[in-house]
Amino acid sequence: MEYRGLGKSGERISTIGMGTWQIGDVQKGREREDQLLALKRGVDLGINLIDTAEMYGDGKAEELVGEAFRGQRDSVFIASKVSPGHLHHDDVISACDRSLQRLGMRHIDLYQVHWPNQRVPIRETMGAMEKLVRDAKIRYIGVSNFSVEQTREAQESLSRSELVSNQVEYSVTNRGVEVELLPYCKRQGLTIIAYSPLARGRLPASRLPQSILEKHHLTPAQLMLSWVTRHENVVAIPKSARVSHTEENANSVASRLSEDEYRSISRAFD
Ligand code: NAP
Repeated sequence: MEYRGLGKSGERISTIGMGTWQIGDVQKGREREDQLLALKRGVDLGINLIDTAEMYGDGKAEELVGEAFRGQRDSVFIASKVSPGHLHHDDVISACDRSLQRLGMRHIDLYQVHWPNQRVPIRETMGAMEKLVRDAKIRYIGVSNFSVEQTREAQESLSRSELVSNQVEYSVTNRGVEVELLPYCKRQGLTIIAYSPLARGRLPASRLPQSILEKHHLTPAQLMLSWVTRHENVVAIPKSARVSHTEENANSVASRLSEDEYRSISRAFD
């Protein structure tokens, strides 16, 4: 597995992480077992970044993550998120406490504001995030779905901590962040956590250059993950509910393509 720095924190996270949206909804049976096995297999293969949120399955995804990694806290880097309806100071604190309880953990490694909420001043939310850092309930602060302007405001609202990341949608079929946000985050030393990097499972296989797939023995999903993480400050969090998908995704960045090859994939989706 390849690892990258998280913002300017010095922390190392896996270039390929694991998402958990729509995981944990099923309470028992084969499907739940498969989801647990898929998460555990990822960590066996060196993945440490696990992304979840209080919103996913109304807390059930966090419970599943807690169950998967009980007794293995040091092997994983847990990123969770506070919902946009909980961004007032006291709501952030209590949402974090509930997440910790569901995870069965003493701290969350990266706590992210899931979506901006124009009705709550970001300064108030960031004040609560810094209190959580002081109380050792979270280690790093991130945002998600923030524009350049909103990211800058979040950065300026922090007095003792530095913002480390912005989680946004990014894949070959959704490249909006390349216009402004990606260059801004590069300049600021912020990590982009690319969500829905596999286009939510609707892989545009026929549009990916066949010659590159064949030459590097990559599957369409692997090519998409390699492409989206070609920038040093980007990591990706594909969601997988099957061991075979997790294995495929974990092996996507074992070797890198040339700049020309990455460019020709980009051209196919211009
Ligand atoms: P995604 O990761 O782009 O796609 C997931 C789909 O791809 C699933 O149907 C999965 O199938 C399939 N898949 C996984 N590996 C595959 C492979 N190797 N080959 C073929 N298909 C494969 O979509 P996503 O779940 O929207 O995004 C990933 C994560 O990002 C989420 O789980 C969540 O943690 C995060 N996210 C964050 C936000 C936000 O607002 N911050 C929004 C959306 C998502 P199986 O499930 O059958 O394995």
